[in-house]
Amino acid sequence: MIRHILRGFLNFVLPETCLSCGESTSENERYLCGNCSSKLEPYTDTHPWQKEFVEAGIIENSISAYWFREGTPIQPLLHAMKYQKVRSAGRLLGEAIGRRIAGTAPGFDYIIPVPLHKAKQRERTFNQSLCIAEGISAITRTAILEGAVNRTRFTSTQTKLNKAERRENVLHAFDADPEHIEDIRGKRIILADDVITTGATIIECASVLKRSGAGVIWICSAAYAELKHTE
Ligand SMILES: [Zn+2]
Repeated sequence: MIRHILRGFLNFVLPETCLSCGESTSENERYLCGNCSSKLEPYTDTHPWQKEFVEAGIIENSISAYWFREGTPIQPLLHAMKYQKVRSAGRLLGEAIGRRIAGTAPGFDYIIPVPLHKAKQRERTFNQSLCIAEGISAITRTAILEGAVNRTRFTSTQTKLNKAERRENVLHAFDADPEHIEDIRGKRIILADDVITTGATIIECASVLKRSGAGVIWICSAAYAELKHTE
């Protein structure tokens, strides 16, 4: 309680500071100063695995707003969202995805945030993918649909796994909710996550939706991180 009051007081007397470099930010800058914002690297490439999953008929497209590279301002931005629960930092990233989609794609019916396992969500208190989805929704005016797909299996961290191990690790991790089957049948869906690498998790989630009758699926993330260990 005291800490809460103190933080409120500090925010009141001290100007907002940049999450990346600590310099003060001006009124129209959110979380990053102008200099750090300009260091965010837009991801305009095609994901190396995109073709495989488009040809398999699982997705129609995949986009990431930014590159995830260590030491660049995307890191403190994602960290603030995930661990300091700065939800609006996630919305900011989602808005960047939304602007990309709004410029290229026809309308969508729903945005579905990649769900966390219930135990994980309890521990973290919120799903960061939902913040990303909220940002996309603010720009594209597309409704968010939660609960259509659930994470039924607790999966260990993927950090040290290679591409094949990641796919194995997330196999059967999701289930479509029988009560939502009619909601997703034939629908155009944006599936949203924070960071994607091999796409294993989000593709597994997309496969479940597709098997349940979803129409077109775009998978979208705030950032794309290259896989470090490719053995
Ligand atoms: Zn800065």
